[in-house]
Amino acid sequence: MIKIPVAQPFINQNEIRNVNKCLKDNWISSKGIFIDKFEKEFAKYIKVKYALSCSNGTVGLHLALLALNIKKDDEVILPAFTYIATANAVKYCNAIPVFVDIKKDTWNIDPKEIEKRITKKTKAIIVVHLYGNPANMNKILKIARKYNLYVIEDAAESHGAIYQNKLVGSLGDIGVFSFFGNKIITTGEGGMITTNNKVFYKRIKLLKGQGMSEKIRYWFEIIGYNYRMTNIQTAIGLAQLKKINVFLKKREQIKNWYLFFLKKYKLLKYLELPTTEKNSQSVCWLFSLRIKNEYKKLIDRDKLMSFLFSKGIETRPFFYPINEMPPYKYLNLTKRDLPNTYEVSYTGLNLPTFYQLRKIDVEYIVRNIMLYIKMLYINKRLSK
Ligand SMILES: *Cc1c(COP(=O)(O)O)cnc(C)c1O
Repeated sequence: MIKIPVAQPFINQNEIRNVNKCLKDNWISSKGIFIDKFEKEFAKYIKVKYALSCSNGTVGLHLALLALNIKKDDEVILPAFTYIATANAVKYCNAIPVFVDIKKDTWNIDPKEIEKRITKKTKAIIVVHLYGNPANMNKILKIARKYNLYVIEDAAESHGAIYQNKLVGSLGDIGVFSFFGNKIITTGEGGMITTNNKVFYKRIKLLKGQGMSEKIRYWFEIIGYNYRMTNIQTAIGLAQLKKINVFLKKREQIKNWYLFFLKKYKLLKYLELPTTEKNSQSVCWLFSLRIKNEYKKLIDRDKLMSFLFSKGIETRPFFYPINEMPPYKYLNLTKRDLPNTYEVSYTGLNLPTFYQLRKIDVEYIVRNIMLYIKMLYINKRLSK
């Protein structure tokens, strides 16, 4: 039985009041007062000119690529270590995903590897700020300028993370956020696209609303999509956004509790955390760590996770290298092409982080990691 889940939303009276208003007023579909409010407030929070809500983060990425006119046979560079949606959005456009390796220290896309994979067909780079940690945008934007490429930021896991005084999602051409139930703020399902570019904004607006003309109702200018968010979802989102700084502060506290107990139980000898780029501030989406190379033979990640599960602690393994999974097997990429991705992917796990998590829960989690490692040493000694 799970006593401590890996993630859990925090909903209170404010969300309930907003949703009730939608229900009472009968505005439950994709028109209503909360949509515009949520978009405006989100744009203000990220400090961009425009924000557009959409059904979820995945379609947000699709819309971003469509707005940049990414089409058949265009190449899009992205990390091999990310959630599947980042890659699938490229395939929705019939474009070619070009997976590159990550840096060993930050677990984010390696700018040096990006440059090696640029060809005449390359049109865009999707940067993922993985597990709340900003990627090296300076280097990436420099490469993008040099080769005339667009940059999309997949900020689905990093609401509020800062890179050189700017919030992620405001640094590239287009930023994409997710509001799935386990993200930093949630609307159940939902997403947001951020940009400072009016042309991209207008195209995304057209595309997400079936391609209907702004001037003539029921006149469709292009083949668009129904990728809209509902008033009910944005009603939840607006209430969540008002609490975002409280959420982020709590997550920072949880991170510090983890660090405190990891030190107390002398576990940092075995486990490694990601580093952050210069002048950047990560947010603790999930508390992510990996087993150090020297210990990965002794400590099996999957067995550690099973042990924790037996103690009622839910954890999450790191993403698999995307190229390993059936839809992307055809690319024939291996461990040799993406060494860091494989190393990090198979040795990492995410620990619980959510608003209601208490210090004693964090201690319980870390103490069980300690007990597991101690047990391994005892077994090793006995078997000698
Ligand atoms: C969650 C997530 C998405 C997709 O968001 P959905 O709202 O679930 O569609 C995209 N990229 C990354 C890195 C994510 O974590």
